[in-house]
Amino acid sequence: MEKLRVRFAPSPTGVPHIGNTRTALFNWLLTRQNKGQFIVRIEDTDRKRFNSQSLDKILEILKFLGLNWDEGPQTGGSYGPYFQSQRLDLYQKTAEELVKKGAAYYCFCSPQRLEKLRKEQRAKGQIPRYDRHCLSLSKAEVEKKKRTEKYVIRLKMPDSKIFSWHDLIQGDISINSKEVDDQVLLKSDGFPTYHLAVVVDDHLMRITHVVRGVEWISSVPKHLAIYEALGWPVPKLAHLPLILGSDRTKLSKRHGAKSILDYRDEGYLKEALINFMAYLGWSYRDNAQLLSLEDLVKVFNLKNIQKQNCVFDIQKLDWFNGQYIRMKLDKELVELLKPFVPQNADKEILLKIVPLIKERMIKLSDFSKMAGFFFKRPNVNSSLFDNKNYQDHLKKALSALQSIEVWKEPEITGVLMKIIKDNGWKTGDFFMSLRIAVAGSHQTPPINDSAVILGKEETLLRLNEALKA
Ligand code: GLU
Repeated sequence: MEKLRVRFAPSPTGVPHIGNTRTALFNWLLTRQNKGQFIVRIEDTDRKRFNSQSLDKILEILKFLGLNWDEGPQTGGSYGPYFQSQRLDLYQKTAEELVKKGAAYYCFCSPQRLEKLRKEQRAKGQIPRYDRHCLSLSKAEVEKKKRTEKYVIRLKMPDSKIFSWHDLIQGDISINSKEVDDQVLLKSDGFPTYHLAVVVDDHLMRITHVVRGVEWISSVPKHLAIYEALGWPVPKLAHLPLILGSDRTKLSKRHGAKSILDYRDEGYLKEALINFMAYLGWSYRDNAQLLSLEDLVKVFNLKNIQKQNCVFDIQKLDWFNGQYIRMKLDKELVELLKPFVPQNADKEILLKIVPLIKERMIKLSDFSKMAGFFFKRPNVNSSLFDNKNYQDHLKKALSALQSIEVWKEPEITGVLMKIIKDNGWKTGDFFMSLRIAVAGSHQTPPINDSAVILGKEETLLRLNEALKA
């Protein structure tokens, strides 16, 4: 059997959001599962939308997630170049060949004529499409015009032909060519459009399976027309379900969908991002199993990808992230927390703090909210305290804590519980006053453990300061 070869073909027009990266993940899983090859091809033919930083970001995303590629930018390969902008001669040659076969034609219509045509069609309530004005030009006329005028090459869509194919996810699909415009294949600047380039490259790069978003389905008849005209075999097609935002429209940055790099910088772990993305359209048991990339390679299955749209639920990502944070060893978390802790934070101290907050963390960036007070004295003012006895709480805590010689949690708890009892206070009220004085916040890790980490001197100093506030 022919070896499976799939590709991820991003356009470097910006930083892709998480939904686009799902396509890369699914392609990668399919490859690794079948011991095939994963190819990254950069579809950079749209010069107007080209963004020079985009390529680096796309590759950074793949590397961060561990989606290594066998052929593509940086790695090379036997079917390169892997940048479409470096393959123009191949597209030009193919476009000419299509003209020779009668499957495409030169078009000299000016942008002004096309615009006028579109306006007229819209005014009549018709769907704008090319009127085949240049299809009737004779060979001689074409040759003459080619010498002096700008032109494009258009696909000649067969008239009223039903294009049918079996989509590995969407099932049997048929589209009548009547509904399809004569697509521009080669632009006047010599660059191909997506439709020509994708077919030429998938063919020359020997792609066996095309797995991409469902929004490309309506383009398939154009591609099939080209494959047929050239007598090329068609790769297997699989169109992934659409990802919707919370308002049930196509997921976009508007819904807060960010790039994987943004999520990383907010403190989401790659394991959580991968696990979360896998369930965007694919299902396995209760869709909440914790699955690593290696697990996914074993259980991922094209058959379990649903046809129906799926919904992007950030709470689910949060849930996975919390789970993966808890699975980390404390020392691993300390490493992962590096970008989120003060630069001079001591590793030993961090190792003591991590177990106190690990259970409640959702993102790594929660660190500063939960534990920033260890590194920076809080700004405490009297309005933070909600209990009218707070001064009394703090004064008595101060004198009790001063007397402690061994600064450990049981000793601290011992003396504090005693003053609570002696004064008939409510435990919660007392500790809230202490918490605010020491951490400047109503929510902190266990406060007695925190005091141990802060040390006696610092804890007493903070109580003193709070009394002055
Ligand atoms: N360049 C297209 C994109 O960015 C690729 C579509 C395809 O995979 O055929 O979505």
